Amino acid sequence: MDERLIRGHVINRYLSFIKNTWGKDGMEQAIEECGISEIKVDDSIFYSNEIMERILKWISTNHGMDRVKQAGKYTAKNLGLFAYMVRFMSMEAMLHKAEERYRELYKFGDIDIEIHDKKAIARMRDVSGIEENCQGWLGVLEAMLEMTKSKGTVAQIECQVNGDASCIYVVEWQ
Ligand SMILES: [Zn+2]
Repeated sequence: MDERLIRGHVINRYLSFIKNTWGKDGMEQAIEECGISEIKVDDSIFYSNEIMERILKWISTNHGMDRVKQAGKYTAKNLGLFAYMVRFMSMEAMLHKAEERYRELYKFGDIDIEIHDKKAIARMRDVSGIEENCQGWLGVLEAMLEMTKSKGTVAQIECQVNGDASCIYVVEWQ
């Protein structure tokens, strides 16, 4: 199996969520316990997704699953995702960009987003290996609603971690 690689940019935003939420001590604890104190994570370099999974598990084990979702939301909002144009973007436009953006940041898995009027179905195959990943993605999709000032909901209706063919999320907005 090919190594699952993720851009340091994403890992650094999760670490920055940890620092903002639990302070410098919290971040040092996380880095220590995740075994990444020797690594200087560079935004532009790709790393093993296993590092990301350790960080996600650190958050859920020490602070609960809801914080993982918050971390995903924070990360999406601080990725410079579409920072320069997000103010002018609709939910539709942002979702259209999301597949391309995913491929810039992750070298594994596949995302397919179908948009019908005010509803989107996001299919993510081989993207999430652990439940924490799915929570992170819920946060990312909720962040998109917030960033585009759309009122709406996000629900996960299928999950590959639980044996489905892919993780499927439904986003609906007004
Ligand atoms: Zn899932």
